[in-house]
Amino acid sequence: MQNVKGTHDLLPLESANYDAITELFSNIATVFGYHSVNPPVIEHAELFSRNVGESSDIVRKEMYNFFDKGGRELALRPEFTAGIIRLIVQNKLYVNNELPLKYYYVGPVFRYDRPQLGRYRQFMQFGVESVGLSSPVNDAEIIAMSYSMLKTLGLNNIALKINTLGDDESRNNYREALKSYFTKYIDNMCEDCKQRLISNPLRILDCKVKEDQQYISNAPKISAYLSANAKARFEMLLNNLKTLNIPYEIDEGLVRGLDYYSDTVFEFHYTNSKGVNYGAIGGGGHYDKLVKQIGGPDMPGFGFSFGVERIYNTLNDEGLLPIKQEAIDIYVMPIGIENQIYGLKIANQLRMNGFLVDMCLEQCKIGNMFKRAEKKGAKFALIIGENEIKNNIVIIKNIASQEQQEIKQEDLLSYFINLTHSCHCHEYEGGDNCNHDNKDCCCHNKDVHQ
Ligand code: AMP
Repeated sequence: MQNVKGTHDLLPLESANYDAITELFSNIATVFGYHSVNPPVIEHAELFSRNVGESSDIVRKEMYNFFDKGGRELALRPEFTAGIIRLIVQNKLYVNNELPLKYYYVGPVFRYDRPQLGRYRQFMQFGVESVGLSSPVNDAEIIAMSYSMLKTLGLNNIALKINTLGDDESRNNYREALKSYFTKYIDNMCEDCKQRLISNPLRILDCKVKEDQQYISNAPKISAYLSANAKARFEMLLNNLKTLNIPYEIDEGLVRGLDYYSDTVFEFHYTNSKGVNYGAIGGGGHYDKLVKQIGGPDMPGFGFSFGVERIYNTLNDEGLLPIKQEAIDIYVMPIGIENQIYGLKIANQLRMNGFLVDMCLEQCKIGNMFKRAEKKGAKFALIIGENEIKNNIVIIKNIASQEQQEIKQEDLLSYFINLTHSCHCHEYEGGDNCNHDNKDCCCHNKDVHQ
């Protein structure tokens, strides 16, 4: 059996690094005051078909919808925002909580798209939604947060593209202008664009068909149709980004694929050092009508999502992986099968105190056990034989220095705790030597670590 087309397996090291990426995003979201929420993967198909937009590719062509055994039409979520808003509205989270509600999420989404480089049918998104407040400072905070998430991963060549779709008045005028412009050329354009001209002419700007670009590049620009309010709002946001030192480029062709966006929209792109561009690595925008449309009060929202696969692939190409090594702290080596249970007891005590511990469960020669310890990246090996059990001791071997010492079993845990916790130096992590000069190091236990 093979995996389903457009899906991909995550093998252990990949999976650990996907987790590391989303953990880093979650930590940054948390310090910005966001809380985790987790809607189900399946929702009523109507949630997306009615709210994401009849003219969006996601709804028209890409939804994984099906009827369950009870005859309900359900869908695997093709995006998170509609589900998060449904969760907010259904649980009336806006009643007793301060606004904006600030939530983040991580999980798989499903789109029946044509699989290609950077495009999967099941992929992982991390994102945030801020609901209940509309201000250019709120927009700037979210863009700054997403930008710092990418920077923290070590990505330096980030291109932030930004545009405004204006308010209702601006968009209505712009839609009319696009309609009359594209009507002249539509017979020569792709079938999707013909459809978009009727349902949502703005989406024509998102068309990727090469032959259509000649018409799209000369189309009217939104900037000429912005109301005074929409213009002022966008200018304030751009000034905010300047103040926060976040570089951006205005891209008037940026409309984003979903129908619910208004005002600010943005995307992150990244061309890596090999010249590969997987498409947008993230994007988002402002939505004013969605909460009301889903049955809640009239309140705005602003959010973005990252494509974790595209970010992982970009990090990989840039040599920025692994973020997380699959290394363990301690490898327990019981000598003789009859002593394994003592080894397990010691291993478990260390595990319960947060140490990453693995143990040799086969009967092998000590030399082979050391090879295994090294392969697993262990910093210490613990040798436990008959003699050690009889005398209540353990032999600790530092794999890097090859130094060996005996220690009483009852002192073992405090030995490792001292080794890690007495050092306040940020460069020291669970058994590594810190890189500080003696004079700079605030570690209390220099003689052990250096
Ligand atoms: P969207 O909801 O379309 O704005 O997507 C948000 C992010 O998800 C994009 O910026 C991409 O990074 C990622 N993404 C969208 N579609 C796919 C796909 N088919 N495969 C992998 N990543 C995707």
